[in-house]
Amino acid sequence: MDRVHNFSAGPCTLPASVIGELADELPNFEDTGMSLVEMSHRDAGYDRIHRETLDLLRSLCAVPDDMSILLLQGGATLQFAMVPLNLLGTDQGRAGHVVTGSWAKKALADAAKIGGTYTAWSGAEDGFVRMPTAAELTVEADTRYVHVTSNETIGGIRIPEFYDLDVPQVADMSSDYLTRPIPWERFDLVYGGAQKNIGPAGLTVVFIRNSVLEALPDDIPAYLHYRTHADADSLANTPPVFSIWATGKVLRWIESNGVIPAMEASAAERSAMVYDLIDDSDGFYRCPVDVGSRSHTNVVFRLRNEELEQPFLAEAATQGLVSLKGHRSVGGIRASIYNALPTESVTALTRFMGDFAAGNT
Ligand code: PMP
Repeated sequence: MDRVHNFSAGPCTLPASVIGELADELPNFEDTGMSLVEMSHRDAGYDRIHRETLDLLRSLCAVPDDMSILLLQGGATLQFAMVPLNLLGTDQGRAGHVVTGSWAKKALADAAKIGGTYTAWSGAEDGFVRMPTAAELTVEADTRYVHVTSNETIGGIRIPEFYDLDVPQVADMSSDYLTRPIPWERFDLVYGGAQKNIGPAGLTVVFIRNSVLEALPDDIPAYLHYRTHADADSLANTPPVFSIWATGKVLRWIESNGVIPAMEASAAERSAMVYDLIDDSDGFYRCPVDVGSRSHTNVVFRLRNEELEQPFLAEAATQGLVSLKGHRSVGGIRASIYNALPTESVTALTRFMGDFAAGNT
């Protein structure tokens, strides 16, 4: 089968080898006479898959022993509520939110319904075109944690260097974990949906500090309580077995392709291929975000003549370059370049962009 060049922002392209393995193994999982998705999640066969995925996450992300890894559902969206429900209980102080785009706004909106919050910085006035420096953040005295979004998937901006603050941080890393190292000592909690860099939709990974888990109040509904999941090794209820299985396979693919340093270098190189073409296009293409905050996983750009954006997308599709349309809230073009997107896809995109500019100027 010819695979398209899939620039989707998530769910997104996964390694072709992983899709092949899933297809081969699905009908008869390890000679059990059934597929994995038909097997009880209490079965030893599934249990091994579950633990392997957890072990791979720990080793590939270099997660310290004093943090737990939880395999949850509900997407990163549920974490917008679950984080404050757990961490802002009983007079623990407020959450300072760094508001850097659509996702950060949603995180703050939910947290504000649950506990004390304040805006530590907002890029709204500038149209969310850059990430702040640590010195620009206002961190109030009663801060329990500062919430950051490491990469704004819609706006196409990333925190270039994680902040080093005097208070713990909580991070939504949905669109760039497993593409960059994480300085764990600065974070009490990190979360992200799987469906960009690490697997199919349905799984949300939460990394949480054990001392935080132990100190959580009891009066949180069971399913929303992090300790429920930690105490049960993320098997408190039926887990998303297919996603966890497939994610394990993608993690193994990451492991055999150079682990995080290689993913990080590759994201930088592949995104630079597109940024370089934009910068050298004499203004035919333009990237609306500040150079220092440019995302390595979501390259957003406009055409000088915005009326050419629809023809650009239509012509790209005829060449197998798909899902390049910017998010419906901002328009324009977005090329998402996650771990599994082959370099050839980026080469095909830049070649097309060059040809399209030449044919339309
Ligand atoms: N945060 C970020 C940075 C995201 O990119 C997304 C999804 N695109 C979300 C949160 C929401 O994630 P989910 O769809 O898994 O709830």
